[in-house]
Amino acid sequence: MKIAELFYSIQGEGILAGTPAVFVRTSGCNLRCVWCDADYTSWAPEGRDVEVKEIVRYVREHSRGYTVVTGGEPMILPEIVALGRELRGIGQHITIETAGTVYRELECDLMSISPKLRNSVPWEREGGRWAERHNRLRLQYDVLQKLMERYNYQLKFVVTQPEDVTEVLEIVKRLRAKRDRVLLMPEGVQARVLAERGRWIVEVCKREGFRYSPRLQVELWGAARGY
Ligand code: SF4
Repeated sequence: MKIAELFYSIQGEGILAGTPAVFVRTSGCNLRCVWCDADYTSWAPEGRDVEVKEIVRYVREHSRGYTVVTGGEPMILPEIVALGRELRGIGQHITIETAGTVYRELECDLMSISPKLRNSVPWEREGGRWAERHNRLRLQYDVLQKLMERYNYQLKFVVTQPEDVTEVLEIVKRLRAKRDRVLLMPEGVQARVLAERGRWIVEVCKREGFRYSPRLQVELWGAARGY
């Protein structure tokens, strides 16, 4: 499967923030978020083909029990099913980070679903050539519902402006998501921007009963890769 990077760090986002974990970052994505912070897996995908057994060897050597399979969009790769089976075989807690547009049956302890809001549509980037497709694909309610029913989940929304909250509330209502599984996370690859957005996002979380998600990797290492 095409892998952009393998590294050992801490989970920076979501309900497991702060947990040491091996990251398996797949390359390739069916969406093109305008603010994608891993565009070497989407807009300009990089990486090399790595066999599942090689990935598992890396995990075995480095992991303290937690593996995060992220992307790109890992759910578009059929090999992820075999990877999940092998990771389960060596006793890993498995998080899958997905935008929630593709469904698969696989081994997973936490389905970290990040449905994409209107703020993600690339109306102008690269002449807007991806905008229509991205906008059509970004919310697949049947897939989201199925993922939420089948897996232990969190719903992590990337927010940029207060207007985004209206859309989050609509999606949460339509999916009948549990409020304590909903996380709001500021968009940004600079600690200063996260702090500015974080202050009003926390107030929304207090009002609506959502959780606030940090981006520890940005706070600690900025936009550097491999963290
Ligand atoms: S879904 Fe994730 S990897 Fe794909 S373009 Fe959006 S942020 Fe980037």
